[in-house]
Amino acid sequence: MATVLCVLYPDPITGYPPDYARTSLPLLTGYPADRALPTPAGPLGFKPGELLGSVSGALGLRPYLEEHGHRLIVTSDKDGPDCEFERCLPEADIVISQPFWPAYLTRERIARAPKLKLAVTAGIGSDHVDLQAAAEAGITVAEVTGSNCISVAEHVVMMVLALVRNYLPSHEIAVDGGWNIADCVSRSYDVEGMNFGTIGAGRIGLAVLRRLKPFDLRLHYTQRHRLSPEIESELGLTFHPDVRSLVQSVDIVNLQVPLYPSTEHLIDAEMLKAMKRGTYIVNTARAKLVDRDAIVQAMDSGHIAGYAGDVWFPQPAPRDHPWRTMPYNGMTPHIAGTSLSAQARYAAGTLEILQDYFSGKPIREDYLIVEGGGLAGTGARSYKLT
Ligand code: NAD
Repeated sequence: MATVLCVLYPDPITGYPPDYARTSLPLLTGYPADRALPTPAGPLGFKPGELLGSVSGALGLRPYLEEHGHRLIVTSDKDGPDCEFERCLPEADIVISQPFWPAYLTRERIARAPKLKLAVTAGIGSDHVDLQAAAEAGITVAEVTGSNCISVAEHVVMMVLALVRNYLPSHEIAVDGGWNIADCVSRSYDVEGMNFGTIGAGRIGLAVLRRLKPFDLRLHYTQRHRLSPEIESELGLTFHPDVRSLVQSVDIVNLQVPLYPSTEHLIDAEMLKAMKRGTYIVNTARAKLVDRDAIVQAMDSGHIAGYAGDVWFPQPAPRDHPWRTMPYNGMTPHIAGTSLSAQARYAAGTLEILQDYFSGKPIREDYLIVEGGGLAGTGARSYKLT
């Protein structure tokens, strides 16, 4: 019998289950590039479209785990020395957490979890786990690669349009009963013809480029592994050898690389200075890729025209976090990858990982971040330990 400790965000304030807007999800046959959707064995413990990411949803895992005699603890109480997560950690064989409400698995916490063998990220992005400490402790880290890529890519497209067209301030004027056209349009532009650059063109970055192509933007990218000449020519991409070259050339910067020690503060005050006046920044990757206060200063001075993102540090963000109130921000809480559509996929992928783990089968290579004392699978291609 294993103890599975699952940290999820709190239920809706109005109660669980919520009043769903729709009754079903479209049926998908695969991820882009013919990658396979999650393939858990047997019935799912949920109906796709249900709210699974909050405590009562329990990622739909309860029927499977209880039927197989495992103990499931679900909590949203994850921060501070007396939280339920800290109290239950010494008994946990498996920890499951979502990036939207991350259970920070620090080196100190790992030291207090002698039984821990598997840390699953229900979603994508395992930077809330100290990957070096996990590798040293022989813990396998896995995430549900691919599960919410298109959800995030759609969020990025929405944010690009919202910032450049000045959607949110104009919407507020409408809600407030106003009709001040000049105030709405004084900061409103078309994206057509602008230069858009993504730092990272992996699964999400490439999906963003594909979705923006029909808007007739000029598309740029930089990333560790150059894309194939076929993709570059299909999308008319300009490749940049480094981040500085890219940010100097574009009007909109999109961040889509994982966070690890050497990508922390990739965008600092110097890099912001290298951007053209009036650049927009979209960051759905991770907050610590940018210097928080340098962003606030660049927004206050007007050098950066808008910043939209849904990633913060820490999460949940404190009430007085300066990104909540800086001018022309398009921030959301961390929601891009946890639409009801995404939840159905990453809950199914989490079930697949657990089934493989309990039956002694190898976890899908694509899902692995750390295994056998070092980076593995997707982890070896996308992360670094330094
Ligand atoms: P991916 O692994 O497919 O792509 C990441 C790409 O970044 C890889 O191609 C890699 O080569 C490249 N890369 C790594 N380090 C680099 C560097 N220093 N410079 C240039 N390129 C580098 O991952 P993905 O599925 O596209 O996800 C990317 C990130 O998006 C995740 O790590 C996560 O942090 C974030 N994410 C956010 C949400 C959300 O809800 N906001 C959801 C999913 C993922």
